[in-house]
Amino acid sequence: MKVTFLGCGDGFSVLQGHNSAILAFNGTNLAIDFPESNHYALHQMNMTLNQIEHIFITHLHEDHMNGLQKLALFHRVYPGRTKPKLIVPIGLKEDLWQCLRHGLELTTRGKLTFEDYFDIECVDSEFIVEGVKFELVRTLHVPDMLSYGLVCKPFFYFSGDTRFDESYIRRIADEVQTIYYECHMQDDQLPSHTSLAELLTLPETIQEKLVLMHYVDDYLEPNLREPFHAKMKVRLAEPVWRNRVSQ
Ligand SMILES: [Zn+2]
Ligand SMILES: [Zn+2]
Repeated sequence: MKVTFLGCGDGFSVLQGHNSAILAFNGTNLAIDFPESNHYALHQMNMTLNQIEHIFITHLHEDHMNGLQKLALFHRVYPGRTKPKLIVPIGLKEDLWQCLRHGLELTTRGKLTFEDYFDIECVDSEFIVEGVKFELVRTLHVPDMLSYGLVCKPFFYFSGDTRFDESYIRRIADEVQTIYYECHMQDDQLPSHTSLAELLTLPETIQEKLVLMHYVDDYLEPNLREPFHAKMKVRLAEPVWRNRVSQ
């Protein structure tokens, strides 16, 4: 399984795209979240929006789903190999359609539904794509908001947006090779996100598996990034965008 970060910026990122990864495996692909910035990142990979075959949405903050309307319209105009499959945690489907429908429902060919654009699968605790199992993990992001991460053993745990969930990290660490974890790198601690200081309380054996994502653009700069990598066991995810920006 190949994991590529289409973006690993936080909600206010300008230079690296918002947080999203695309997984390539068994002849298909799965995007975790779909911000609008993915369009440019896919272009960097010589891919088009109609090549996205599966999308999992972790939660409804706009930096995680504001590219879905464009993707839906692109697939209608330029159909891909398959209708895109949208995998949505139970409880989010109607709210997601309310976010999207204002631009999708009325068309020159009549009124369309959510299902006209996507093959939708509502999932509870797990789902399977081309024989690979993904397990949902409820996150600690915003109280009462439905939000999820994903585990795909033995490959990875992808935290989604969350506060520091130490007990879950410790429970899953032995079962996966890599832990992609969100990290608010600035000094001001946010109540809905995880700080670097919290992640650095984990044992070194776990820190060695940590790849940080959803971080501030400042850490694209070599004067911050290189010293960080020189002294830390944790790594920063590499966005496709950054490769382009640094050329
Ligand atoms: Zn976010
Ligand atoms: Zn969020």
